Amino acid sequence: MHRFFVPPESIVADVVAIPRSKARQIARVLRLNPGDEIVVLDNTGDEYDVTLTEISADNAVGRVTDRRHTSGEPRRRIVLYQALLKSDKFELVLQKCTELGVAAFVPFASKRTVVRERSGDHTRTRRDRWLRIVEEAAEQSHRGRLPKVRDPITLLEACEQANGVVLMPWEDEHSTGLRQMISKSASIGSRDSEIGIVIGPEGGFSEGEVESARERGVTTVSLGSRILRAETAAIATASAVLYELGELGT
Ligand code: SAM
Repeated sequence: MHRFFVPPESIVADVVAIPRSKARQIARVLRLNPGDEIVVLDNTGDEYDVTLTEISADNAVGRVTDRRHTSGEPRRRIVLYQALLKSDKFELVLQKCTELGVAAFVPFASKRTVVRERSGDHTRTRRDRWLRIVEEAAEQSHRGRLPKVRDPITLLEACEQANGVVLMPWEDEHSTGLRQMISKSASIGSRDSEIGIVIGPEGGFSEGEVESARERGVTTVSLGSRILRAETAAIATASAVLYELGELGT
């Protein structure tokens, strides 16, 4: 059944007023009809079985037939601190790491980020596009919650904000491997502590940036002898951490 995140205020008693953007998708793209069933999620942890009762080009209404807590969320929060990348690469990271189970994305600018931060409409349009990519990926992958997408900060701010165990894959790290670190991370820290992953830009991290990160408790790890593209490193590291946590099938 198709799944849609809607604002909690769209659900009043047992009636759901589907927001216009979703109503259009239901009517024109999916061509659903009254009587068809969908699942609606309020992003507060509940999901609802809904029977559609009215559908027009810009409007859709449904009736709740069942309600339950959502599943589909990893037991530990994974936060991905991702250097800004060229748009298609950054968007690939958002989509794939949403499917995998990342709880929050924190974009950051660093010394060697190729993408220059612009302001105004461009930033707003880009953020709207990011949120749409994350929402579509969360609906498709049956996530129970929408991952958060923070506004871009600097690498230093990211290292200062990050809490719990924070791993920074760095290709010049040769003594600590990801595998030994994540098995340690998966066991340490309580269930509600976060695991942070910090992935650099196309140009990588400078030595100075690595030192500053380490001074703030970040652990550099190697992903092996092959140099991965940033988007590959993000997806691979998130996959390995979630695998170790038993979140990719036990
Ligand atoms: N210095 C790299 C080069 O020579 O091409 C550029 C950085 S790499 C394209 C982008 C990011 O992926 C790095 O900042 C790091 O976070 C991660 N990464 C890629 N390969 C890695 C490896 N073998 N070990 C640890 N981190 C890696």
